[in-house]
Amino acid sequence: MGGPMGSPGVGPEMPTPTVTHRNATAPERTGGTEARDYRAAFAIARLPMALVGRDGRVLEANPALGALLGADPVRLTALAAAELTGISGDERLRAEYADVLDGRSEQLRCTRPVRTRDGRMVRAEVIVTRVSGAAGGNVLLSVEDLGERHELREQLRHLRMHDPVTKLPNRALFFERLAAALERAGEGTGRVGLCYLDLDGFKAINDTLGHRTGDRLLAAVAGRLDDCAARLGRGRHLVARLGGDEFAILVEGSTGTGQATALAESVLAALQRPFDLSGQRLTVSASIGVVEREASGTTATGVMQAADTTLYWAKADGKARWTLFDPERNAHRMTRQALSSTLRQAVERGEFVLEYQPLVAMGSGSVRGVEALVRWHHPHFGLLGPNRFISLAEENGSIVQLGRWVLAESCRQARQWQKDYPDDPLFVSVNVAVRQVWDSDLVADVAEILDDTGLPPELLQLELTESAVMGSAGRPLQALHALHEMGVRIAIDDFGTGYSNLAYLSRLPVSTLKLDGSFVHGFRADQHPNPADETIVEALVQLAHRLGLTVTAECVENAEQAERLRRIGCDTGQGWLYSRPVAAERIAALRRDR
Ligand code: C2E
Ligand code: MG
Ligand code: MG
Repeated sequence: MGGPMGSPGVGPEMPTPTVTHRNATAPERTGGTEARDYRAAFAIARLPMALVGRDGRVLEANPALGALLGADPVRLTALAAAELTGISGDERLRAEYADVLDGRSEQLRCTRPVRTRDGRMVRAEVIVTRVSGAAGGNVLLSVEDLGERHELREQLRHLRMHDPVTKLPNRALFFERLAAALERAGEGTGRVGLCYLDLDGFKAINDTLGHRTGDRLLAAVAGRLDDCAARLGRGRHLVARLGGDEFAILVEGSTGTGQATALAESVLAALQRPFDLSGQRLTVSASIGVVEREASGTTATGVMQAADTTLYWAKADGKARWTLFDPERNAHRMTRQALSSTLRQAVERGEFVLEYQPLVAMGSGSVRGVEALVRWHHPHFGLLGPNRFISLAEENGSIVQLGRWVLAESCRQARQWQKDYPDDPLFVSVNVAVRQVWDSDLVADVAEILDDTGLPPELLQLELTESAVMGSAGRPLQALHALHEMGVRIAIDDFGTGYSNLAYLSRLPVSTLKLDGSFVHGFRADQHPNPADETIVEALVQLAHRLGLTVTAECVENAEQAERLRRIGCDTGQGWLYSRPVAAERIAALRRDR
């Protein structure tokens, strides 16, 4: 470490002016701006330094060295540098020092105890370096208090690891402590707990009242979190600000979920009291994700991901609450994510299959048509029913491709049956999701598929839910009319679960109502049949007939139900009594049997 003076530009003729008059005398004595710059640097440097002559005596000491040793720097002039820096106390160092002074060696670096102004002995790193050419020039000596360096490093670290707004540990420190806690898995209880907290609606406060108020609120919240943690954790819990309006409290050596949820509970209570921010009264609430688990086998990222998910649940469940991590809910979420992200490729890879469930005429018991029900042969999860993926496909839009495939495959199959039994053809009933009506040209798709497969339109029925057609104006309504004109029939699926607005439905080009299974369940003799149910359904069926609609009962599971439904006037039945949904090949066999 040569320092700013470690340059041949400062020659041996350097005088020993006092600090106060250096500006007046030094420049013209040494000449040149470069030398002047070095002198200025020497004077203001925080590093204690001295220029030492070949005789080992101080030529000039800078103010920092004076401050360290507790002397006016001028008074250090002419003193033996080896004495001041403790070099003289060690025989070997003395020899090495002499080598530098005599030009036999370039530098001496050692750690010495140095007595400071207050009589304290500090460990200091002493460096003696030659500053001028060949043998016997001056040397520059620096003395650095290692204790001070350590302190400075600590101060810097503190700055780096804390948030200036709340004075709390920041994300970096939090992760360091979390990782350390997980590493010590074998000690104490071997468990960690975490409350991951986010203020509800903080952004609105920040936006409307300004960042200054926002910052003050964050600082006040931090104070309350600290109080809670101190009260419940007796100083062992770490409260940190992870960024924005997110905070975390780490419970090291957790004793179980109870401890973490109690902490979350007390935090919510503490935040309920309004905040008084220089005249402004503010109330906030927070959502907290609580994770508590064994430390061994857990990673910091793992805990944080779980906390993040749990916080999301707390928000989704209505905010202003804590939620505890639930592995099952998480597995469900992960499966949903995995399914959702692979749906599109699954359509392309042909991972879907259709099963068909007979639609049976209640009077004669003959199969009139079939409903096509989609299943997913998933490479990892096995055979999945539509309730596992249809809503996901609707959410991410892949229902459009999937729906098109279902439609094409059903029509192809129905056409095949028509060819096989030209005298007694089956119609196929295909479920259509709302989004297919909105996000794709359903009418064009149907027309094209009928054209491609050669299936007569009368052998195709589309099932839409009430919610899909209710309040229909514009696009869905136009689509319904266009399909009707084409000769395709429309059925309302799961009727009775939604608006059940028959008067409205009768004005739409709808031909069939599919009575939801929940109606039919009430028809089981062994389950105390509800006469009111039966009366309602009977009235419904009569009304539907008067409006020109046919009625299909879903979920017919036993002969008793079938008989009552037939008596009430249902036209068609569908359910396990007749058949479960089956592969296409089985449908032909079923027809032969009836
Ligand atoms: P859905 O259209 O009401 O279909 C009838 C559901 O009831 C089918 O469930 C069927 O297996 C079941 N089921 C039939 N008979 C009985 C019975 O006697 N008792 C009971 N408890 N259940 C019976 P699945 O196959 O799981 O389909 C569920 C839903 O998924 C369907 O309800 C439909 O809304 C939807 N879905 C199926 N395939 C498709 C499709 O290709 N596209 C669209 N958008 N939705 C589909
Ligand atoms: Mg259906
Ligand atoms: Mg249904």
